[in-house]
Amino acid sequence: RAKCNGRNDYAFYTQSLTYESMEHLKLQSALHDAVKQESFYLEYQPKVDCHSQNLSGFEALLRWNDPVLGLISPAVFIPVAEKIGVIQEIGRWVLQQACEQGVKWLSEGKDFVRIAVNVASPQLQRRSFVTEVADILELTGLPAHRLELEVTESCMMFDTQAVARDLVKLSDMGITLSIDDFGTGYSSLNYLKKLPINKLKIDQSFVRDIPIDANNTAIAKAVIALGHSLNLKVIAEGVETAGQAYFLATHGCDEAQGYLYSKPKAASEFDEFFIKQAVAPSLA
Ligand code: C2E
Ligand code: MG
Ligand code: MG
Ligand code: MG
Repeated sequence: RAKCNGRNDYAFYTQSLTYESMEHLKLQSALHDAVKQESFYLEYQPKVDCHSQNLSGFEALLRWNDPVLGLISPAVFIPVAEKIGVIQEIGRWVLQQACEQGVKWLSEGKDFVRIAVNVASPQLQRRSFVTEVADILELTGLPAHRLELEVTESCMMFDTQAVARDLVKLSDMGITLSIDDFGTGYSSLNYLKKLPINKLKIDQSFVRDIPIDANNTAIAKAVIALGHSLNLKVIAEGVETAGQAYFLATHGCDEAQGYLYSKPKAASEFDEFFIKQAVAPSLA
């Protein structure tokens, strides 16, 4: 196309070869290498029961430390991985690692542990996803009811019939299904009554500055009420202050997750967390 444009070529290329697009290209090729070299690792962030303050599970969060580019945020590289089609491979790796870690914790007697794994929309668009999950559960030995999959509202937007059938299969296996970043997507609420969703995760943008921010406070309360009236559990992410935690607990939120309890850390760094769990039921 650029050839036909003649003298417009110059404008075309100067516009597209910006600093950002060069960075994007670097990211793309590094990401291809990362899959081969396996320069990924997982961190885990605790989830806490709002009422008992007990540890209720962990969310696995992907980390990428590239030898040249350094530590890159998943918020930056996951969308690129989706675009260049390597998310399936990465997602599979994450799921297997997380399930292995879950089994390890269970075998150490941490029998309350549940593991949540983020699932990108393109993963769920593939009809092989259910088999892949079943295979990994079998391979690692993690009981299905110990696994939670965090999907986003964008997963619900297209190809609804096929995705719906797959979600039913996953749910029938005993897997918990959560809607991550609830309230930030563009999908309708229609899927909530049709699909076997178990949990809503209030996005951290709505948790910020509650109970001072009147709008966020209203939204958080509304999501808790909506979730409970549909028989869903509700978890809040990005909980950083005792004030937020107190507000959420007194308004019936079921679980909380955030820096108040712990930042995401390597699995090996949670020994003390587990000791506290065994000695005293309260973490906060
Ligand atoms: P998310 O699933 O909504 O995860 C929550 C993000 O908030 C994480 O960022 C977490 O580190 C951060 N966070 C937790 N507590 C707090 C807090 O109290 N305050 C603040 N400011 N932030 C908090 P992270 O690890 O950078 O991940 C960003 C996003 O990248 C995730 O959002 C998720 O959408 C995506 N992601 C991460 N790992 C994976 C993965 O394995 N697969 C897929 N598909 N996406 C992933
Ligand atoms: Mg998540
Ligand atoms: Mg989230
Ligand atoms: Mg989020």
